[in-house]
Amino acid sequence: GIDNWTMRQPLGVVAGVTPFNFPVMVPMWMFPLAIAAGNTFILKPSPLDPGASLLLADLLKQAGLPDGVFNVVQGGKESVEALLDHPDVKALSFVGSTPIANLIYERGARHGKRIQALGGAKNHMVVMPDADLDKAVDALIGAAYGSAGERCMAISVAVLVGDVADKGVPQVAERARSLKVKNGMELDAEMGPIVTAQAHQRITGYIDKGVSEGADLVVDGRDFDAAGTGEGCAGGFWMGGTLFDHVTPEMTIYKEEIFGPVLVCVRVPDIATAIQLINDHEFGNGVSCFTESGSVAREFGRRIQVGMVGINVPIPVPMAWHGFGGWKRSLFGDTHAYGEEGVRFYTKQKSIMQRWSDSIHAGTEFAMPTHK
Ligand code: NAD
Repeated sequence: GIDNWTMRQPLGVVAGVTPFNFPVMVPMWMFPLAIAAGNTFILKPSPLDPGASLLLADLLKQAGLPDGVFNVVQGGKESVEALLDHPDVKALSFVGSTPIANLIYERGARHGKRIQALGGAKNHMVVMPDADLDKAVDALIGAAYGSAGERCMAISVAVLVGDVADKGVPQVAERARSLKVKNGMELDAEMGPIVTAQAHQRITGYIDKGVSEGADLVVDGRDFDAAGTGEGCAGGFWMGGTLFDHVTPEMTIYKEEIFGPVLVCVRVPDIATAIQLINDHEFGNGVSCFTESGSVAREFGRRIQVGMVGINVPIPVPMAWHGFGGWKRSLFGDTHAYGEEGVRFYTKQKSIMQRWSDSIHAGTEFAMPTHK
């Protein structure tokens, strides 16, 4: 005579803090689910490209969303801290660099908030000797240099197994040298400029460091000639694609996220060494393996300590329901963004037990209820 069921209910006010590099897509990992689940949402976008958030707000208003459901707050650190400290904000989703993700996770936890904080990355692509090399080279070029490498799912390390490097590095080098680097508004552009002067300086500094630590600089993007980038573009933060070979795990350019158009190649003898190398890295966002072997694909998918895995897919960003998220220091928190995990993040479970007077036994019960 007793029914027990559970339901999931919204948290209330939830917030999202997003990076510069996907000013529309990353907020859209958050607010559609949060709002559909019954919450109101505050977006704090990157100060580097704040306009996209206002465009989204305008479109939502035109679509009939009531005022106060989707809100935008601009600013930097102070705005984020105000959201983290405010008692009415029940949960916060963050996407950005690892040091900030870590800070946000800690500060949010101190206030008892739910936090999912997605951080930086160093994504590896393994190329096995049995892979179709031409297709693997195509994949490497697009995944390393697309969006000037300013994607958290960009491939920044090529792990070349056996004799792949001897054949593959010259091909990658030739393609890296001939990338069409120009105004991104032109449809044939393969790579645009770097986002800020500061980022340009950081990336150049990493290339300098790679050289001083003994890596083999095969293609140098630092001496890029901006003349062909398009009218009025010459003063931009330009750089060409950079390629390093003979990189080792102790080098800074292997360990740290560069977040620019720099691909480093590590040579390994076999798949076991490749898997160990990747599992030892502090980041674990995305990874890819190019092979024609089913058993290599299976072992790789099961053993690799990374949240999103591609087999012959260089940038394995999951489709809507499967959610997005890395492992290790690429994500702080328990749930991935969007997908089923996103619905869980923006809702809490309630359990209801119910009975009516005809099933209530007479007399006071002092023990825990049982099903007698
Ligand atoms: P960022 O960490 O500098 O900034 C992200 C957000 O945090 C911005 O809104 C910024 O205003 C805010 N912020 C900056 N400093 C802060 C502080 N001290 N306290 C509180 N908030 C602060 O990142 P970015 O440069 O905009 O974006 C690039 C980074 O984002 C890269 O590391 C990239 O890998 C990562 N990223 C990760 C994913 C992912 O899904 N894992 C996706 C996109 C980008």
